[in-house]
Amino acid sequence: MIETIRTVGALRARVRAWRAEGQSIALVPTMGALHRGHLSLVTAGFTQADRVIATIFVNPTQFGPNEDFSRYPRQEEADAALLAQAGCSALFAPSVTEMYPEGFATTVSVAGVSDGLCGAARPGHFDGVATVVTKLLLQALPDVALFGEKDYQQLGVIERAARDLDIPVRIQGVPTVREADGLALSSRNRYLTPDDRAVAPALYRALTEVADGLTQGQAAETLCAHATADLHRAGFSSVDYLEVRDAETLAPADRFTGRRLRILAAARLGAARLIDNIGVE
Ligand code: AMP
Repeated sequence: MIETIRTVGALRARVRAWRAEGQSIALVPTMGALHRGHLSLVTAGFTQADRVIATIFVNPTQFGPNEDFSRYPRQEEADAALLAQAGCSALFAPSVTEMYPEGFATTVSVAGVSDGLCGAARPGHFDGVATVVTKLLLQALPDVALFGEKDYQQLGVIERAARDLDIPVRIQGVPTVREADGLALSSRNRYLTPDDRAVAPALYRALTEVADGLTQGQAAETLCAHATADLHRAGFSSVDYLEVRDAETLAPADRFTGRRLRILAAARLGAARLIDNIGVE
């Protein structure tokens, strides 16, 4: 059994008690429907701190009106069991009204890094993410908070917000956990039919093809056009974006010149919108 905390007050009391014992704290924010990717964040948390608090909150403000908020998988009991098995110290699972009480009127909006990519495909998404993560960081005030590189732009948005708002929490990125065939683990993979699932690894293959071409000196634009065509041929119904960016600033990049790059993509397959990204060093 894992202790499940429902209110900000109880969360602060729990953190205060651990602090009084001299223990350090890591926070792992999630939307639940946990998989090995989430659990790798918990494991990484224990390399950084004595206690790891996971949070589960399906945040309504980061979903667009026609997105999957209402059908997003919710399975708190199973998630709690997985977290207990992973040795996680506590679960914070607040209600929507605990996070957004009546009269809530504040939005955290991060310029620059939120633009383009998922920011263009999902208007308002990163405002919702930045707002809820800022709240979670201030509610728990952990030493460190861990986020997956799977959501690379999100990681950049959160790093920026924490720095700009002087939130005294270290933001730590964790490498993407993949299936054996390359598909990045995601709660949304359960939207895939068996036929979709067979097609899905083409997304990772497209990214690795672009990475190989870049290291051979080819231009990003040509490589991305080819890879996008490959995704359509494989069975993806649309490609929101497939782009090469500077790994640090996320500014568009033409080719590999020695600066670290990141190739990022989002594409629709059946009922799912899959995102993935890889680095080029
Ligand atoms: P989510 O529940 O999808 O909002 O994800 C919660 C956290 O888990 C985020 O920091 C994600 O980047 C991270 N995450 C999701 N999938 C993976 C994965 N396959 N590998 C590593 N981290 C992941």
